[in-house]
Amino acid sequence: MSVARGPKTTEHQIRLAKSCLGEMEKQAVLGVLDREFLGMGAEVHEFEVILTAFFERPAICVVNGTAALHLALQACGISRGDEVLVPSFTFVASFQAIAATGAIPVPCDIDPVTYTLDWEDASKRVTAATRAVMPVHYAGGVGDLDGIYSMAHSYGLRVVEDAAHAFGTTTLGRRVGSFGDVACFSFDGIKNITCGEGGCVVSDDDEVLEQVRRYRSLGLLTERNADPTRGVLPKIDVREQGWRYHMSNIMAAIGIQQFHRRGEFADKRRELARAYDRLLGDFETVVSIPNDYEAVVPFMYAVRIDGDYDIPAVRARLHADGIQTGAQYQPNHNYTLFSGRDKPPLPVVTDLYKRLVVLPLHPDLEVEDVEYICERIGEALSATRS
Ligand SMILES: *Cc1c(COP(=O)(O)O)cnc(C)c1O
Repeated sequence: MSVARGPKTTEHQIRLAKSCLGEMEKQAVLGVLDREFLGMGAEVHEFEVILTAFFERPAICVVNGTAALHLALQACGISRGDEVLVPSFTFVASFQAIAATGAIPVPCDIDPVTYTLDWEDASKRVTAATRAVMPVHYAGGVGDLDGIYSMAHSYGLRVVEDAAHAFGTTTLGRRVGSFGDVACFSFDGIKNITCGEGGCVVSDDDEVLEQVRRYRSLGLLTERNADPTRGVLPKIDVREQGWRYHMSNIMAAIGIQQFHRRGEFADKRRELARAYDRLLGDFETVVSIPNDYEAVVPFMYAVRIDGDYDIPAVRARLHADGIQTGAQYQPNHNYTLFSGRDKPPLPVVTDLYKRLVVLPLHPDLEVEDVEYICERIGEALSATRS
């Protein structure tokens, strides 16, 4: 391996993930502060216009990705007692968004190669109460999304895609979010583009769109009959439970600038993931997700370590070498709130978690950092073989 570069200082860790912000984002925020309109106004509208053009169908901005999922489910009519199929291997946000509607998240197993929803396993968990399926595009890849849609179609289920990891990814020539039932994105601090926090719902179902717009603003229904010149107030009504889930102009101002940098970010993420693929290809026991980085914009880089290694010791060594690692995600069916619904069992996700190591990936890393990380992984593996 070529000369590899270590962390810049001893206390400097190579971060697993981070926001990448520049002067444009700072100026955009200052612009909002100068105009003294911080709520949902011109910047949010502009960001929605940009995203709508990008996805070629309406995008509605909300306060975060979890809210996007919650609102999308509510707008699809998911409510108390309904069941929603979801991979156990996801951020707890997917499960909590389902639970927020009163519905029950039903943990499903994952495909052993892509770590995305195994639709055959999911189909075995369908009951009379099942109303929807929530595929999660793990690390940016979508797995067999067409298979998931076929399964959903055959059982008459709504599909709410948790596309939090997949901003910019395409599959079979189509951009994620530009097709299908409803897709939800997150713009939290470490996602492919960020607003600080933030998210959006994308769909071409007019009823879903109208309801998401209403529910994000406390369910307010406002008639356009106001006439301030005659002192006539708008007629307002509230008929359903809504939430305070709108996006602010500060967030949108950051998001607009980040959107313009999406190509630069995607190129860098792809370059780094390809470098990992190339360098880890030498290690027989380190298994990466075989993504096509022409299509996938990688959000994370996860490896499974096969064989008899002491994984906590591998993590500790990497930590000592200044390399942060992650383990996204602990299976959700192991959380107290969601336990007891893992019958039949979930062997793939249960086994994966013990052997999963997530490696640093963000646009401020360089290929030299990836070389350093891979070199240290090699050393950690030789040192910890049991
Ligand atoms: C980030 C994320 C979310 C939630 O998005 P927030 O904007 O953080 O609320 C949902 N699902 C997955 C898989 C995520 O990674």
